[in-house]
Amino acid sequence: MTDQQWYSRYSRHFLLNNFDETHQHKLASASITIVGMGGLGSMAAQQLAAMGVGTLNLVDHDTVSLSNLPRQFIYTQRQIGQPKVYAAQQQLAQNNSACTINPFEQRAVPDNLAEVCDTADALLDCTDTVTTRLQLSAYARQVNKALFSGSAAGFSGQVIAISPHPEAPCYGCLSALNAYEPQTCLANGIFGPVVSTIALYQVMLLVYFITGIAPVPWSTLHCFDATKFNWRAFTLTPNPQCRLCQ
Ligand SMILES: [Zn+2]
Repeated sequence: MTDQQWYSRYSRHFLLNNFDETHQHKLASASITIVGMGGLGSMAAQQLAAMGVGTLNLVDHDTVSLSNLPRQFIYTQRQIGQPKVYAAQQQLAQNNSACTINPFEQRAVPDNLAEVCDTADALLDCTDTVTTRLQLSAYARQVNKALFSGSAAGFSGQVIAISPHPEAPCYGCLSALNAYEPQTCLANGIFGPVVSTIALYQVMLLVYFITGIAPVPWSTLHCFDATKFNWRAFTLTPNPQCRLCQ
């Protein structure tokens, strides 16, 4: 890409009030690990690659299936049966060849989190199992990395920025709350626009963190109810019952 092409490509970023070339360079220097390449991860990857994030590490053990296509539109009918991380790599490269994609065709487990996350500046939790979320949050806390966690099921979703600060609450503090019961797409179905909405909120938080163009609302759980077009916010505090950080 020539300098002229670079300015032209990102020209609408530079028209933003508080966004200049240094912010674009910060995105280009950033390495992000996305754990889970379903509805959340695939949407987030598309937006991040398009915005000019330099490196994306994609982690998923799954293959593209027919039932993914109504909301995971990075994938095509021809890619059914292919590993998601390689299918996504092909599609993302067509949008922005300057983005380096590192595919990890594996389930994220404690034993391999260092391998897939160590070089990342921040982590996106786009998984669909509570066990993996907790393991990822425990790892993020251990190595002081920022974690942007999203989940969606049915007509609702939630997103939270978990601070790398050792005193800040973690995902375990949230799941230790009695009232907190995450739903799953397999049990509750999923309305496609909801999962895309949540993924893009994760991206906003992440981009604010990387560039500093706006403050990150750390430790605030944002809950979206799509049937009421309603967002509610709750402040998360360290939970004495948390088995990860207390
Ligand atoms: Zn905790």
